[in-house]
Amino acid sequence: MNGKSFCQDHRAESATWLNGVKEYFLNFEQFSLDPHITAAVKAVGYTTPTPIQRQAIPIVLQGHDIIGLAQTGTGKTAAFVLPILQRLAKGPARQVRALILAPTRELAEQIHNEIISLGRQSLVRSVSIYGGVSKYNQVAALRRGVEIVVACPGRLLDHIDDRNIDLSRIEVLVLDEADRMCDMGFLPDIRRILRHLPAERQTLFFSATMPGDIRALANSILKNPVSVQIGTMTPIETVSHALYPVSNELKPKLLLAMLKQTPTGRVLIFTRTKHRAHSLAANLEKNGYRVSALQGNMTQNRRQAAIDGFRNGKYDILVATDIAARGIDVSQISHVINFDMPDTPDAYTHRIGRTGRAHQTGQAFSFTAQADEATVREIEKLLGARIERRRLPGFDFGNFAPASRPGEGGALQAYPPQAQRYRRRFVPSMASRRHAARS
Ligand code: AMP
Repeated sequence: MNGKSFCQDHRAESATWLNGVKEYFLNFEQFSLDPHITAAVKAVGYTTPTPIQRQAIPIVLQGHDIIGLAQTGTGKTAAFVLPILQRLAKGPARQVRALILAPTRELAEQIHNEIISLGRQSLVRSVSIYGGVSKYNQVAALRRGVEIVVACPGRLLDHIDDRNIDLSRIEVLVLDEADRMCDMGFLPDIRRILRHLPAERQTLFFSATMPGDIRALANSILKNPVSVQIGTMTPIETVSHALYPVSNELKPKLLLAMLKQTPTGRVLIFTRTKHRAHSLAANLEKNGYRVSALQGNMTQNRRQAAIDGFRNGKYDILVATDIAARGIDVSQISHVINFDMPDTPDAYTHRIGRTGRAHQTGQAFSFTAQADEATVREIEKLLGARIERRRLPGFDFGNFAPASRPGEGGALQAYPPQAQRYRRRFVPSMASRRHAARS
């Protein structure tokens, strides 16, 4: 990649951000956005740009392509929405000029809502397009004319095939959570969609991780991109992590005991399968908790009701699978509990990104069975630190004897300097190992 790097010491920067030393940052007025947009930013209550907004907005306003290594929770949506609104404030109305591709309906809806909030005073029209719901309203909105389309790839292709949408006048393309779109098998769809877009356009590419295939995709569609990196600041800086070694059979009991002992706010629990999400939610409900499940077998209406209920306080606990949880934008999640460990460190990062958002701190507890040991080691390498192993006080583990000693040191224990040096020299990066495993 021949892009100029604007990467900075984002750890130091995020620490400054979290300490609230706001004088260091620009305010939104200094981006010289259209007054209608600045007024909308004020109305939604954003006063200080987040690090990614501070880095990305001026570059995007200048018309550069961008490659952003940033996860959800960093304020990246506004980082691309604000410059898009600025561009669309002038020029033709009611033709599709900006296309935003996202992996899930929830994320598409979340981006669409951010556009509505930030574009309220600029009269920019947006539609969200995804499967699982009728095409009728989507077609009606496209016929009335919109400037922005936020879409999941599959349903967008349906509309392209049905000739409901003209993408020949796109000025800006955004790929959001590109790594997740590829994980979900959307790469061929994305390549098909790209064929319908003009070559002359601005492309903004966001991904939480950058394995080889994602970098290849970025290289093939970006022109002289500028890199913006916020990296893994959320899991490291604002979330405290702990592992609870436990056998699979004891997990439901351990969870109930943990919820009883721990003062929690909103709790997001992850399971490996839809079935486990459903049955765990039923078990928690039986034990008196206000809980809902969120998994891929549910209709879009039921999924939205679960997210809304979690957001507005009807439910204290949401039990979700990875895919269903993408793009959940619920503030003040106090705890993420991995009832089942994710398969990859990247998935761990995504899950944990649900807590500790913006200015808050959160806790991430993971139930680890013996089979998870390799994943745990990879996660610790990604974090550059050892995660504390804990045992819940007073909990009867029966015959189960966790391998690790309880209560070791702080929540995250940095590797000693020699180990760090060893890691840098001899442990290949996660991305290159995954790439090697695939090829
Ligand atoms: P995102 O990474 O775009 O999903 O944003 C994460 C959360 O941060 C969302 O709830 C946004 O509404 C919020 N947010 C975005 N930008 C700001 C800002 N400058 N100040 C405060 N909150 C923000």
